[in-house]
Amino acid sequence: MRIAEVFYSIQGEGKLSGVPSAFVRVSGCNLRCVWCDTPYASWEPQGEEMSITAILQRISQWPTRHAVITGGEPMIMSEIVPLCDALQRGGFHVTIETAATNYLPTPVDLASLSPKLSNSTPTHREGGRFAVAHEKNRLNASVIQKFIDESPDFQIKFVVCEKSDLDEIREVLGQLSGWSPSDVLLMPEGIDRAVLEERSVWLGEICKREGFRFCPRLHILLYGNRPGT
Ligand code: SF4
Repeated sequence: MRIAEVFYSIQGEGKLSGVPSAFVRVSGCNLRCVWCDTPYASWEPQGEEMSITAILQRISQWPTRHAVITGGEPMIMSEIVPLCDALQRGGFHVTIETAATNYLPTPVDLASLSPKLSNSTPTHREGGRFAVAHEKNRLNASVIQKFIDESPDFQIKFVVCEKSDLDEIREVLGQLSGWSPSDVLLMPEGIDRAVLEERSVWLGEICKREGFRFCPRLHILLYGNRPGT
């Protein structure tokens, strides 16, 4: 499968935030979020073919047993199933980060679901040529529910740009069952400290009011917005 990067870093988002982890970033995505922070795995996919054996050899050199499969969109690549199977058999805890628009019966320990709100739609970027397809595909409640039902653990992470995004978040959650507020994470959109700090102030207050988790972007604070982190 085409891999944009394999690297060792600190998990910056979610329930396992702070855990040193091996990351496998697949290249290619069925969405085109306007604020995508990994365009080299979506808008302009880069990378080379790597075998499962080569991936396992690469990540086994690091002192961690936490593996994170991210993208791009892992769930549009059928090779993800044998990759995750091999990782679990090798003793890794496996997190999959997905927008949850497509389901594959993948062995996983933590399904990190990130449904995309309308703030992601690229209405003007590149003349809006991806806007219609993105809008049509960005949200699939039955797929999100399938992940919730089938995964041993899950989290639902929303990228928030404006306070008004909360209305849409409530609407999405209203279509789902089997979750509790502690499974829901609200993360400020942003790839630089100043924007994250400004949005974190009011987003933290929303989390306190609603009982959702606040989700910092620890890797941005530690390393800035750079590939390989
Ligand atoms: S789903 Fe993720 S990888 Fe794909 S365009 Fe959106 S932010 Fe980028």
